[in-house]
Amino acid sequence: MIAPTVAITSRGLERLASGHVWIYRSDVLSASGIEPGVVRLVDKKNQFWGQALYSDKSQIALRLLTREERPFDAAFLAERIRAAAAFRQQVVGGAQAFRLVASEGDLLPSLIIDRYGDCLVIQTLSQGMDRLKSTVVEILQKEYTPRAILERNDAAVRALEGLPEQSGLLAGEDPGEVVVEENGVKICFDLQHGQKTGGFLDQRENRAAAANYAHGRALDCFTYTGGFALALAPHCDAVLGVDSSGDALRQAARSQSLNGFTNLEWKEANCFDFLKCADQEKQRFDTVVIDPPAFARQKSSRESALRGYKELNLRALKILNPGGYLITCSCSFHVSEADLLEVIANAALDAHRTVAVVERRTQSRDHPILLTVPETHYLKCLILRVL
Ligand code: SAH
Repeated sequence: MIAPTVAITSRGLERLASGHVWIYRSDVLSASGIEPGVVRLVDKKNQFWGQALYSDKSQIALRLLTREERPFDAAFLAERIRAAAAFRQQVVGGAQAFRLVASEGDLLPSLIIDRYGDCLVIQTLSQGMDRLKSTVVEILQKEYTPRAILERNDAAVRALEGLPEQSGLLAGEDPGEVVVEENGVKICFDLQHGQKTGGFLDQRENRAAAANYAHGRALDCFTYTGGFALALAPHCDAVLGVDSSGDALRQAARSQSLNGFTNLEWKEANCFDFLKCADQEKQRFDTVVIDPPAFARQKSSRESALRGYKELNLRALKILNPGGYLITCSCSFHVSEADLLEVIANAALDAHRTVAVVERRTQSRDHPILLTVPETHYLKCLILRVL
């Protein structure tokens, strides 16, 4: 079947030429009556430029799949998934939970496939990819025979596409609680109710890196289900994980008992309040992790996000002992690494602390960064030492 054709403006073509993969609605010349799905991209002279996923609702009207003319069918999709999986074999080591397919980063825009042991969780976040969902499930069953395939399409971004929020089992059996090992520590995931697809896989390498420096008394702010705290526990005397979600902390405690760690504690609190009190009470730590949710989901909230990062990092630096480490993160795309470094430099001045940058890190390598698609680079993780 030949895909329908969508014509785009010369500005849209320029975006493709710059290596980007999104074309906005204002650069669509004609798409009347075209169903969401795979389309052929042409210019106003009907010259072919590539194939893309078309959405009739979102401001991102087109997401480039390929510059080739070959039909984007199940075989093509399977090839892309296999290529993504082959790269994971090179970078995830023995990890049992990782991102198998990372959307644009694997040239499969708006498709996420996360692997948790023998279970797979998918998200189809655009109209076009959503229509390919059953094909994706068939491919995954054939390639991996997973115990379960779930969808976690309860992501808010689906509303921009006019897609309903939905989640549940697509194939196989109810996975129940899934236990996988990460960096030698057992972690349990709730794939049906946890945040995102169950966990924050993009921090896996940063959790391992943080463990290299962790010592003494540690504090993990925004711990969720204890990701950093559990990674730090074998290297520290005592670790406290703080989060506002009681459910997440109960799961953290489950993982703690699976590992038999006795030096971990959990506290349900707002981390801004907690840090303020800890500072006032003159509590001291040797290792502090700050991994908040994205404060700047839009460009317009960048300034308030910077104030949030400043406050958190200022308080964290104040409660650190000399020789202590701060592992601080931002997953806001609209806050760059340079922004974060500047904020922390100012925080260090205010806290009267001299701070050295030990590592400048980003998302784990199973979340590829495309050179010409800046949006694929969102996570910043700095490891800092207080002198
Ligand atoms: N560090 C975690 C991921 C953190 S996700 C890991 O490695 O797995 C961000 C977490 O921040 C979520 O668990 C959310 O519940 C929590 N959160 C959001 N706002 C908060 C606040 N003001 N105080 C405490 N926790 C908060």
